[in-house]
This record gives sequence, C-alpha cells and structure tokens, in this order.
Amino acid sequence: MSQARVVRAPRGPERSAQSWGAEGALRMLHNNLDPEVAERPEDLVVYGGNGRAARDWRSFDAIVESLRSMGPEDTLLVQSGKPVGVLRTHDMAPRVLIANANIVPKWATPEHFRELEDLGLTMYGQMTAGSWIYIGTQGILQGTYATFAEVGKQHFDGTLAGRWVLTAGLGGMGGAQPLAVTGNGGAALCIEVDPWRARRRLEHGYLDEIADSLDDGLDRVTRAAAEGRALSVAVVGNAADVFPELVRRGVTPDVVTDQTSAHDALNGYVPGAMTLDEALELRRAKPKEYVDRSMASMAVHCQAMLDLQRFGSVVFDYGNGLRGQARDAGVADAFGYPGFVLAYVRPLFSRGSGPFRWACLSGDPADLAATDEAVLSAFPDDDGLQRWVRFAREHVKGQGLPARICWLGYGQRQVAGLAFDDLVARGILRAPVAIGRDHLDAGSVASPERETEGMRDGSDAIADWPLLNALVNTASGASWVSIHHGGGVGIGKSIHAGQVVVAEGTASSRRRVELVLTNDPATGVIRHADAGYDIALDTARDVGVTMPLEPGTHPPAWQA
Ligand code: NAD
Repeated sequence: MSQARVVRAPRGPERSAQSWGAEGALRMLHNNLDPEVAERPEDLVVYGGNGRAARDWRSFDAIVESLRSMGPEDTLLVQSGKPVGVLRTHDMAPRVLIANANIVPKWATPEHFRELEDLGLTMYGQMTAGSWIYIGTQGILQGTYATFAEVGKQHFDGTLAGRWVLTAGLGGMGGAQPLAVTGNGGAALCIEVDPWRARRRLEHGYLDEIADSLDDGLDRVTRAAAEGRALSVAVVGNAADVFPELVRRGVTPDVVTDQTSAHDALNGYVPGAMTLDEALELRRAKPKEYVDRSMASMAVHCQAMLDLQRFGSVVFDYGNGLRGQARDAGVADAFGYPGFVLAYVRPLFSRGSGPFRWACLSGDPADLAATDEAVLSAFPDDDGLQRWVRFAREHVKGQGLPARICWLGYGQRQVAGLAFDDLVARGILRAPVAIGRDHLDAGSVASPERETEGMRDGSDAIADWPLLNALVNTASGASWVSIHHGGGVGIGKSIHAGQVVVAEGTASSRRRVELVLTNDPATGVIRHADAGYDIALDTARDVGVTMPLEPGTHPPAWQA
C-alpha cells in the first residue's frame, strides 16, 4: 500500500551518522526519493519502470536508523532494499554493501521475479535507484548528449543541425532525449503516452513544446529542421500506434530511437490501441492479458522501426530491451538495427571512458560551482568536456542535491576525484562530495542486448566482469558498492555493479578516492583488452595496466 510521505536529503556540514561514508549513503538514499528527483517517490520508485530505492518504507526507516547508529568501522548489508545486518569491518571498507534483485540464473525470469517480489523477498533496483546514486534526468543527459553527438559525427557531418529525430518515452531517463538532441542542434519529435510525463519534462526545461496532435507535432519539427533550428516537441500518444502511422504515411525521420520502458512488459511499457486509462485498468485487473497486449504492441513498435530503417532512417536501440521483447513476440529480425553501445559507445569504453557523477552533500549550489570549475581547469584541452560542462551549467535545472555528471577516461577520473577531495580538505566546499556512476560503464556490466552486445570475442554474456568490478571497488575502499541484476534491459538479461566513494578531505578518503577511481575504470580497460579491442589494448599498454596473459588470446578449454 502506498503511503504519502515526502523525504529529502539532509543538507549542511553537520552529519547525523558517525562517518561521512554512512552519512553520504543516508543523504543519497533520501535524495533518490526526493519528489524533485524520483518518478514515484510515494512507492519508493525512483526511475526506470519499477526501480526502487528500498523494499518498503519500513526497510527505508531501518536503513536510515542503521546508517545513523552504526560505528565508523561498521558495514551495513542491504539485501534487495532491506537492511539485513551490520558487521564490524574497518575504516577502509565500504560502509554499505548492496545486492539487488539477484536470482540464480535458471529462475531469473520476469514471472518468477514477480512471484518473489509478491512474497516480499526481493526488489527491482534498476541501476542507480537501488544503489543510491540517481541524480535525476541529468544523470542520463550527458550520455545521451554524447550519443547524439556521435550520431551527428558518424552520419551527418558532425552535427544534428537540419535533422530531426523521432523517439518515444519521456520518463526519468528518456526525458533527457529532447534536450540532448537540441543540444546537438537538431529537432526532436518525442512520443509519450502519459501527458503528465510530457508536462514534467516541459516544466524541468528538458522539452520545448507539447503539440496538440501528431500532425501539429510533425509540422513544427519538420519546419524547425528545414530551417536548421533546434527544437523539441512532444506528442501525447502511443509509440506502438504513432510509429506505424508514420510508416503508413511514408514519413522518414533522419534518426529513430526509443526509450519507452520496454524492459518491463507489465509495469513499464504501455500497450497501444487503447487509452492510457484503459491500459492502467487492464494492468490492475488482468495482468496476464496486459503483458500479452504489451508484447504484441512492442512487436508492432519494433517492426515500425525496422521499416523506417528500410526507408533510410538511421535507427538504433536505446538500451530499453525493445528488440529482445519484440523477438520474443515473433519479430524474427528484431535485432536488425544496432544497440547504441555497439554503434556509438564501445570505443569510449575501450579507453576506460565512462560516467563520472557527483553530488554535493552540503546541498549548496556554490559547492557545485566550485567542483564544475575544478573539472574545467583540470582538463583545459578536452574540448568535448569543456563544451558539455558549460552546456550543463546553463541548461540543466537541478533536481535534489546539487549534482553534475560528465564522462571521464581512465586516468582522468582520479584526477577529478582528488581535486574534489582537496577542495573539501581546504574548506572550500561546505561538506564532502559523493562521487559515483551509473552501472552503464566499461567494466561494470554484462548485458548482451545492450552494453556487451556483439563483443568482439563473443563474451557478451560473461558476467564475471561486473562481479570482479564490485569486488575491486570493495577492495579499493568505495563507500558503498552494489551488485544488481536486471537493470536497463530487464530481469534475466543483465548483471551489473555500482560504486560510490565519498571525498571527505581526509588522508583515508584521499587514498580511497584515488584507488577506487583508478581501479574502477581499469576493470573496463582490462575487460575490453581481454576481448581484443585495439583501443583497449593500446590504452592498457600506454597506462601500464598489468595483464598477466597476452590480452585478447583465449586458449580453448582443453589447453588450459
Ligand atoms: P520510465 O519508466 O521513467 O519512463 C518510461 C516512459 O515511457 C514513461 O513516461 C511511459 O509513460 C512511457 N511509455 C511507456 N510505454 C509507452 C508507449 N508504448 N508509447 C509511448 N510512451 C510510452 O523509464 P526511464 O527511466 O525513462 O527508462 C526508459 C527505458 O530506457 C527503460 O527501459 C530503461 O531501462 C532504459 N534505460 C536506458 C538507458 C540508457 O543509457 N540508454 C539508461 C537507463 C535506462
């Protein structure tokens, strides 16, 4: 039963927990559920369909109480959103260890997961929902901005100016798309079934306009593209109805993608050919029929994307699992268009480049300004980074604690982290800074239909890598470390890990920040070098990452 309850992160330089590691976790857990940040905070849902921060409010209260009362050398264990124990460890150990939604592979189906959830035994943690480092839509904005920049680079002379993008889903993550497209100079037509979500993006400054109808939206967007104007327009409608309608009309967008919550056929995706209210009623009353309708709609939706690709649109999957669902629903060539990681992100991962986000635990915007400046002055020659941080400062409306994200490579992340730690030590910041990342990173995820799609050596489904990543971050002294299952693409389809390290401005935190922010991306370089990517092999050699065997060679089992 939902309970109307509002929580917000405590702010200021005083902590109520006995260490800044525990206080950081406490503030970020609250921040994940701040109504400014979370999509459905009353149900503890942060983003991504049903991604929760804690199992229920009782568990939330017990986590908070444990974080406050535990000693500075204790570690709290969280099992799928429920606190289950506090153990004595040591100063360098994480203050919280989290495992969310993990199920033995044979039983790892959405149906079985829901049964276990109904029994109160587990919780879906998505990626940063259950690992307490969600920072609102900005979190995904930078990655989305970088992806569309790469689309412009690979297909359209380096920019999206004069082009228009068709997409769907304006939720917690998908809501970043319109601003990411306009940031790259393009026009975006965004199909969203829930008018409230579209209005929320408008209010938060991520979306420019909401059209009255599909005709109106098409008209506004194609005119903007023809005039080379950046503009984003939402049309309230269902992608499973609108995408095929565009096919029927012979309309060919320059780029087509989608971020509806396709990974979850019951609690995420909304089936077409009915109103939203009818769909919500069906979801409540007849979940099995709902899932069947949802799967059939996803087949239609994906088929339309394949048709648009045939017409000449650049089409890519944006990590929501639509192709997998459509294939299961009978679309044999659902994987006929690539995922965004395979098409645009893998070269970055091979360099150990990935998401680097931070939240200023003081709540003071001046701390964010100081950290932004620190990043700008640490990497004066990185044009992409300079452009992004300036764009974000101007366009990103804050949600919850002041926070920022950028992508940094191997070697860069610890430089930025140590600069923040130094600012805390010198008293320039009013409180410590939580530095973490999404689980969508070079070494932290196995997700064969997204981050590890089409790996060069066929290692797409090998999930040892994210587990090693979590162990490495634990050994390196991250403040909290998490291992999740099912984020992004849904139950059964991914295993991934997260870390957050709090820069406290002490000798101990300096050491931990340096170790974590060096070793965490190193696992990404190693993972991609081992798979035989030249960029990763060069990076590993250049930076001196030790790999005992010649990378990229996999002896057959009989030789081992
Ligand atoms: P969300 O649940 O917050 O939002 C999904 C949105 O899609 C909602 O606004 C919903 O109303 C809308 N929607 C659902 N079905 C629709 C339909 N048929 N037509 C039009 N609109 C529809 O989820 P989110 O956090 O925005 O994530 C979206 C998807 O992207 C998820 O599957 C998520 O796993 C995936 N994702 C991708 C990345 C990435 O890096 N690409 C990162 C995180 C999440």
